[in-house]
Amino acid sequence: MKKYVYLFQEGRADMKALLGGKGANLAEMTNIGLPVPTGMTITTEACNAYYQAGGKLPDGLSDEIKQNLAIVEEKSGKKLGNLADPLLVSVRSGAMFSMPGMMDTILNLGLNEQTVESVAKITGSQVFAYDSYRRFIQMFSDVVLEIPKYEFEHILASHKEKQGVKYDQELTEESLRAIIEDYQQLVWDKTGKPFPEEPLKQLFMAIEAVFRSWNNDRAIVYRNLNKISHDLGTAVNIQTMVFGNRGDTSGTGVAFTRNPSTGENVLYGEYLTNAQGEDVVAGIRTPQPIAKLADEMPEIYKQFAAIARQLESHYKNMQDIEFTVEQGTLYILQTRNGKRTAAAAVKVAYDMVDSGLIDKKDALLLVEPNQLDQLLHRGIDDSVKLDVIATGLPASPGAASGQVVFDADEAEKWAKNGSQVLLVRNETTPDDIHGIVAAQGVLTSRGGMTSHAAVVARGMGKPCVCGCDAIRIDYAKKEFTVGNTTVAQGDIISIDGATGRVIVGAVPMREPTLSSEYLTVLEWADSFKKLTVRANADTPEDALKAREFGAQGIGLTRTEHMFMGQDRLPYVQQMILAETLDERQAALDHLLPMQEGDFYGILKAMDGYPVTIRLLDPPLHEFLPSLEELLVETTELRVRGNNPALLEEKSQLLKKVRSLQEFNPMLGHRGCRLGLTYPEIYDMQMKAIFQAVARLVKEGYTVIPEIEIPLPIDVKEMRFFIERMAVLADEVKQAAGVDFSYTAGSMIELPRAALLADEIAEVAEFFSFGTNDLTQTTLGFSRDDAEGKFLSQYIQHKIFKESPFIALDREGVGKLMKIAVAGGRKTRPNMTIGICGEHGGEPSSVEFCHEIGLDYVSCSPYRVPVARLAAAQAAISTGENIGTR
Ligand code: PEP
Ligand code: MG
Repeated sequence: MKKYVYLFQEGRADMKALLGGKGANLAEMTNIGLPVPTGMTITTEACNAYYQAGGKLPDGLSDEIKQNLAIVEEKSGKKLGNLADPLLVSVRSGAMFSMPGMMDTILNLGLNEQTVESVAKITGSQVFAYDSYRRFIQMFSDVVLEIPKYEFEHILASHKEKQGVKYDQELTEESLRAIIEDYQQLVWDKTGKPFPEEPLKQLFMAIEAVFRSWNNDRAIVYRNLNKISHDLGTAVNIQTMVFGNRGDTSGTGVAFTRNPSTGENVLYGEYLTNAQGEDVVAGIRTPQPIAKLADEMPEIYKQFAAIARQLESHYKNMQDIEFTVEQGTLYILQTRNGKRTAAAAVKVAYDMVDSGLIDKKDALLLVEPNQLDQLLHRGIDDSVKLDVIATGLPASPGAASGQVVFDADEAEKWAKNGSQVLLVRNETTPDDIHGIVAAQGVLTSRGGMTSHAAVVARGMGKPCVCGCDAIRIDYAKKEFTVGNTTVAQGDIISIDGATGRVIVGAVPMREPTLSSEYLTVLEWADSFKKLTVRANADTPEDALKAREFGAQGIGLTRTEHMFMGQDRLPYVQQMILAETLDERQAALDHLLPMQEGDFYGILKAMDGYPVTIRLLDPPLHEFLPSLEELLVETTELRVRGNNPALLEEKSQLLKKVRSLQEFNPMLGHRGCRLGLTYPEIYDMQMKAIFQAVARLVKEGYTVIPEIEIPLPIDVKEMRFFIERMAVLADEVKQAAGVDFSYTAGSMIELPRAALLADEIAEVAEFFSFGTNDLTQTTLGFSRDDAEGKFLSQYIQHKIFKESPFIALDREGVGKLMKIAVAGGRKTRPNMTIGICGEHGGEPSSVEFCHEIGLDYVSCSPYRVPVARLAAAQAAISTGENIGTR
């Protein structure tokens, strides 16, 4: 029979898939001798078996739980339901990947009308016992019986009011007793049954509730957002309770081994004296910084700091540790790899190599590539005078301006309508997650650096200011006040997550500066990666930016963007509207010097590196006014009848636009089909490239131009262009009196091109995968239609794990790519092959490109660092580079 239950001493850190992250770490910590309260983990396989059995515990599981419970009882010296010394346990979910706050925890399980009196006797405190009991009823009823939390909060608040106190811990035993009775009555009213008294029954109900919570709405949203598979299941951890709320020598806290915002190597966290774990995480009371523990409980602080160091060396990663002190004894409840900002990730990786804890390969694997572009984004420009109205905790860096909204649903709605919003709340809960997703940033009045808002915002790379207690929010009036300032819903404010400042109005932002650690870590990445990283850039400015971020060439210059400027568009339109070749040539003669200037600028900016220039791609109607616009204009002109010349001009334009209209422009008259129809357009572009190259060569620059044909399907098509190219190159060389070289290649963005790549390679000297179009044409999905209409169904039905327009579809599109690589290299073994679709900057796609042996990936300048790191990770994790440095 399958083993479904593991005692903590039976597990290991590498059993995360089976025991969940939390369970595996509790086991590991137990086995390295840390003070972990004893317990057991029910596996993720048991959760899946529960669902397979239609929502029932699988056969044998309940006996296995009871047998292991007996061992836990023996180890702790206490027994569930025993009146002399009752065992109390916590029951928590714990999936393979951490899902902060997404599922629920039950503390103090095992309490009932009898055992609560035993606890009172043993601890000598009825207040403590009753308070534990009322918390247990509340949590159990919320998680297991699904009675909304606020109903209990309401009862609690009314008793606090009756007794005239502000804080929970001021409640007397009489008040607590009365609260318990009201809670029990509420359970009766809601369920028609008494609150379950039998501890073993409580335990089994709680276990099933944790299994069910795997599929609650917010857990599903979180998994979708973080691309976590829905079939992993959650483990259940059952652990002996220790109490942080047994007076002033007790407490509970959460600490990171390093600062998760900056990466600075100091213990970073917070704790609350005389409190249970939920009080810290929920962010309801604002806790003390951990450094203060050194004054209040110096011995405990010393012991904790040593354990933190031990855990970090053991896991070779920054840890996020939960601890409790019960009457002067320290317990470690949990450790996991700490979530961190990009800045912190880079600094931690760098510092850990510097101190010899890890090597460079491990360091590179510690940084999440997608995080890196956070560092390239803007902060607030401090050189201008700012109207700072309050300062909270700098919980997640970056800065944002937006309209204030006080509710997650509202935030989502406003954002959908195109507004930039900041979510402002007293605190956030997992129910607010969609609002945080929609917002530019989050501001809370309560809660610390480990509150829900802070953790979630950091994970998403959004700015967050927490615990800003100067602001007073009035949800009913939809406004907040700070001193004399009132900010209403819809007003614009700015927050600075790096300093905690809250500022009235929108503020100017500044470009980021890159730390030396950042530059060094990326240099390490370069030393391991096999793929070259290029950028997609259409202007010299973008080209320079790309070089600054480490691009080693341009993989795609989209020349159509150069046709759009106000100085060119009239000539482009003239070129399109021309009735004769002469007329068209006249327009092209105007465009030639401008294009030459464009190419000159880009090739010069990329001195020494290759630049792939793609000839015109989009259908010509994109350069003309829209049909609807022209219809309105001509109708108006006709009705007014006062400008027949303009009417004639617009009517001609309308006629042309009509003639260019296509049923399906994506599959229409675009790409090199335009070049076949109007070869003079491509001739002009090729001539402009060669003239720019000739000038630069004369000026002493090293230029490596690669001329690229978009959307071909056949070698004969390619021959047509390449032959003209050779003639033009010779003419320019002759005229300029210089020699230069260039290469000619093909985009591979249609299935036919991939299938016939071996033939195309007879003339194409390089390939570049245009995976945007290749994805559209392989799937038969037009991106805009798919994303707006039906792609979500494909994700929901698990046909695709994520959008194939974001992460490359390895099975389909990837298969065509492999065929094209094999075909191309069969004909031309050393041909350069790259990718310039958006996938070129997406880490899992970069990994695939590494695996199939591409030479380079090309992406937008801001994604270049992401691609550099992803390429290094791909090389390191396939083991190819081990030992090369
Ligand atoms: C592509 O299709 O992947 C590509 C890079 O071309 P564009 O996005 O310009 O169509
Ligand atoms: Mg394309």
